[in-house]
Amino acid sequence: MFDELKDIVTQLREVTSRIEIDVVAGKDAAELVGIADEIRRAGDSLRTVAVGQVERTNSWKGEGAKSISEWLATETDCPQYEAQAVVLLAAQLQHLPVTQAALRNGTLSNAQAVEVARGAIVAPNTETQLLNLAKHVTVRDLRDATSRVVAGATDEAERHKQIHKSRYLKSWTDLDASFNVRGRMTAANGALVMAALKPIQDEIFRSARKSGAHERPEAYAADALMTLCEKATTKQSSEGGGKATRPNAVMNIRIDIDALKRGRTENGEICEIAGVGPIPVATATAYLGEAFLKLLVVDGVDIKTVAHMGRAIPAPLRTAVEERDRVCQVPTCDITIGLEMDHIKPFYEGGAASFENLVRLCERHHLQKTHDGYRLVKIETEAGTERTWAWRAPPDLRNTG
Ligand SMILES: [Zn+2]
Repeated sequence: MFDELKDIVTQLREVTSRIEIDVVAGKDAAELVGIADEIRRAGDSLRTVAVGQVERTNSWKGEGAKSISEWLATETDCPQYEAQAVVLLAAQLQHLPVTQAALRNGTLSNAQAVEVARGAIVAPNTETQLLNLAKHVTVRDLRDATSRVVAGATDEAERHKQIHKSRYLKSWTDLDASFNVRGRMTAANGALVMAALKPIQDEIFRSARKSGAHERPEAYAADALMTLCEKATTKQSSEGGGKATRPNAVMNIRIDIDALKRGRTENGEICEIAGVGPIPVATATAYLGEAFLKLLVVDGVDIKTVAHMGRAIPAPLRTAVEERDRVCQVPTCDITIGLEMDHIKPFYEGGAASFENLVRLCERHHLQKTHDGYRLVKIETEAGTERTWAWRAPPDLRNTG
């Protein structure tokens, strides 16, 4: 079987080994790259659809591998992650005949097919749109578009919660005694980290330039982190562990005006931090009180309004609320550390940054209120007494014990 294909491969090897690459002219070498990519596309697409059939027929079993990707990695001497990506794409393509055809006739590269399939599998009505986009934009832009499609099709609050749950910051010392860090967090929190580092990094870059030094941006980013840590340490020791100061963070959030009004995105609407990625609308509005936001209100693809929103709560008001709410305001919660300012009536519902509408909550309760549908309900008391609250679970969590 496949004698014709095998002959072609043998022939291909013969022809390619005859090429003396050192004497090929520059322009021809560039053409050669294009031809080699065509060969690669043909091979990649055939391998992908063949893997799909191996999976459907279970023919990888019985050869000692625990999974089809392990089998593929051994069979083709490729790394596990590559094998896993091929297996995933093969499975997705079974449901996406148009994308599969585009991959097989060479219109799509493997990387493009991965992005189109990733979006089309969760939102099938976007397949044609993503295929068209693939013809005109870079793989990177295609990936951004796909991320928006995926964000629009999955429950944003649930996704955000899952990512937040899996957050970490790990540090370890390598064999060469170097200190290493690695972390994972929501895009919104990541943007806050980068917004705090970027101005310092730029400052370090500028003064390095002046003195004639040229180093990598990542090196300056590491320096910026050190500067930030030094500042935090000196501040603490000079103020005796006084209250934390927020970095003067600036983020650009792009959001569809309707999504902002509604409180969540629907069918392909955008709510994202520019250059970082999609975030839940609830998170975007929650940040309005925490950082200076440049809110770019988007209508379709045209930016309609550029609203600079200095949403920081005025200092005297903040102090007054901090004085009033010394513990988390959820009944029976007595956490006093790391309290966060919450708009009782959310910003997107027209809630103001006022003494009445602000309340301090611990981090956990703030998250529950912002993302899980918990509510803080005012209990009517006689005039002049302290205000008290009831903490209400969302309807689907009630009466379940
Ligand atoms: Zn609490």
